[in-house]
Amino acid sequence: MNAHHKYGPSSLERCWLCPASARLSEGLQDISGENACRDEGILMHEALATGDASALTPEQREAVEWALDYIASIIPEGAEVSKEKKLRLVGPGLSILTEGTPDFYAVSIADSKAWLIDYKCGYNEVEEPANNWQLAACAAMIMQRYAIDKVNAQIVYPRFKKVSQPHTFTDYDSIVHMIEAAVKNCEAENAPCVPGEKQCKYCKAGQHGKCPAQKAQFESEIVKAETAVNTISLDDLTNDEMSKFYLDFKAKIDALVKFWESVKTRIRYRIDKDGSCGVLTIGKGAVVREVKDIQEAFRLMEPYLTREEFLGCASVSASKLEKAYSKKRQDAAESEGGKILLKTCKGEFESIMGAAVETKTRRGEIEVANG
Ligand code: SF4
Repeated sequence: MNAHHKYGPSSLERCWLCPASARLSEGLQDISGENACRDEGILMHEALATGDASALTPEQREAVEWALDYIASIIPEGAEVSKEKKLRLVGPGLSILTEGTPDFYAVSIADSKAWLIDYKCGYNEVEEPANNWQLAACAAMIMQRYAIDKVNAQIVYPRFKKVSQPHTFTDYDSIVHMIEAAVKNCEAENAPCVPGEKQCKYCKAGQHGKCPAQKAQFESEIVKAETAVNTISLDDLTNDEMSKFYLDFKAKIDALVKFWESVKTRIRYRIDKDGSCGVLTIGKGAVVREVKDIQEAFRLMEPYLTREEFLGCASVSASKLEKAYSKKRQDAAESEGGKILLKTCKGEFESIMGAAVETKTRRGEIEVANG
């Protein structure tokens, strides 16, 4: 796989907000297989590019088909379509300011116009196109490559079956100046670390524990948390004091927990790969026993338990059953050259199962009332 450009479109906003991040993240790789959501996103992106959704689950396939139908509805006939095509933005002196691969774009030279689509296959929404550095950079690359004036950009969220507001980029010079300024800041000697929620969220330097500013910030939060644990008696706080205490600490503790989970994931990954990680290894886990063959278990227990007693110990996952039913229905429809929506399969499942499935709502998370 080609290495990403140091100032790729998706890194530009982070580089602007924290000039040290480009230097500190350089050469750091994603560790494959560590993040199930990201791996799913990669599979969905591949399906969106190739149109082949056979490797996806029914839900993912339906999401991808919805997105492809949406794109087909907005791109005019005759426009030249490119998917996952690498583009560059060449700056003064023929330096490559940024380089990246837009998910999808279509160009109509006759109208001096292009349509740019960025797929977000995760569960988070991002900045709207009008304020989105990644889309602005891709739009400038398209404008430069095809000598056109207007790029209409939109973000498509297949999982939510929704799209962002469209935005038409027209000011090529401003975008280029903005990118030049970001790159210049990052290339400056002693470019500073500027931590912040937005820039640190996906920064590889932070994820790999290579950022001194983030480390110092975490250490200081740990000291504050330790002091609080040793000095505050929770039982003495009033309800108002307790909720203030919770809200004051929540964001910081969540960030620490997230960081700590990421440390543990990496340690587990290295132990699996290398056998150990320094002095660390994996301890003995809890033993989990699962009955794989329910019919056989029933036969063996029949002399001792009534049918009701046996069934009282068994549980079936309604969502797994619904998934299996939907897959079977969709595969059957496909083999007959037809198509059935996942929503329809779920509706059928609900009406077949009726009262056999009991719906319960789990207790939610703590949140601000009317917030
Ligand atoms: S973790 Fe945050 S502060 Fe550190 S380099 Fe990355 S963006 Fe900058």
